[in-house]
Amino acid sequence: MYKNTKNIHCYLFGKGTINQIEEVLKDGYRIYFIDIYFKDKKLDLPLQKEDEIIYVDSSNEPTTDKIDEYKAYLVNKNKNKPSTIIGIGGGATLDTAKAVANLLTNEGKAEDYQGWDLVKNPAIYKVGIPTISGTGAEASRTCVMTNVKSGLKLGMNSDYTIYDQLILDPDLTKTVPKEQYFYTGMDTYIHSFESLNGNFRHTVGDAFAREAIRLCKEVFGSNDMQNDGNREKLMTASYLGGCAIANSFVGVVHPFSAGLSVVFKIHHCEANCITMRGMKEFYPNEYNEFFEMADKQKIKIPTLRKYITNINEDTFKKLYDSTIIHEKPLINALGENFKDILTYEKVKEIFTKMLKD
Ligand code: NAD
Ligand code: ZN
Repeated sequence: MYKNTKNIHCYLFGKGTINQIEEVLKDGYRIYFIDIYFKDKKLDLPLQKEDEIIYVDSSNEPTTDKIDEYKAYLVNKNKNKPSTIIGIGGGATLDTAKAVANLLTNEGKAEDYQGWDLVKNPAIYKVGIPTISGTGAEASRTCVMTNVKSGLKLGMNSDYTIYDQLILDPDLTKTVPKEQYFYTGMDTYIHSFESLNGNFRHTVGDAFAREAIRLCKEVFGSNDMQNDGNREKLMTASYLGGCAIANSFVGVVHPFSAGLSVVFKIHHCEANCITMRGMKEFYPNEYNEFFEMADKQKIKIPTLRKYITNINEDTFKKLYDSTIIHEKPLINALGENFKDILTYEKVKEIFTKMLKD
């Protein structure tokens, strides 16, 4: 059986397109979720007095509790039937806006919808405006959230989660700090090579992924990864990488990275980069390319020692459990018998490699 793939219907692309925002907003009051970085910056938005602005603290990745809190806040203020929800920020903010848009039209709690195709009713109409490039959250059909109680880091994978409209304005990414720009940008490179190296291939997905990789290599192989042209290319790569993943799955990097995020609370994109230290045997070419690009941009990829110096057995067990739980990507990368390859000892060995330069 083939999966019916949904991609973004409409997008505005180019420098300054944020100024056309009014064209894509619906009449009625609107809810804006905006990354906290922009709280004291001038974003020229067509605000109406009944609109709500919620600043998202992206120093923490979204949790199901936080999404429930936003829903309760809007319900209490009688602001739960907006015409449009707008997400302006990185993956954390874009995902928050997606999750709240789903939850306002579906009863219950965010955790009820962690999984695949559980959302029953179409979401509120939503517009995504990325301000940092790489995760592909602007294009994907998920919104990653952690359920702190159960430890489950899983999104609402649904066609209803996909943005109705994007504004892709590379001017918005000018202010991203260098390290963050590299870590997040690499997420699209990593998603894309994981999908190209997987068992579940799809020619359309491959085409998106190949082009995303080509653009990443241009950006991170150049002398100034953050100049105007490169920010435009990376925004394109991020979008294409998100589309690639809609047709496929990630591979070995993301499950290990998720283990680091769950156990040490390391942010997704930095966790991916640390994970790359242990990935030579699975992706030898990409491992070399990745560290060459980091060298070229003078980015020092952290080791896991930034978070822990010595991993004890109890922590290894937690790391193993939160890695091996990601069966779909691991089957995609290593086949049905992935547990024969990723034995407990092997997983320990890989995490230990991340401690070393
Ligand atoms: P982020 O949202 O975590 O933000 C990272 C940092 O960049 C924050 O400090 C933020 O304030 C800052 N920032 C953002 N834009 C800026 C700008 N223009 N100028 C200066 N600073 C700016 O960033 P991210 O790396 O894009 O997202 C990571 C999140 O995305 C994680 O929560 C992860 O789980 C999620 N994710 C989602 C998907 C998906 O398909 N939905 C895929 C991968 C990752
Ligand atoms: Zn990712």
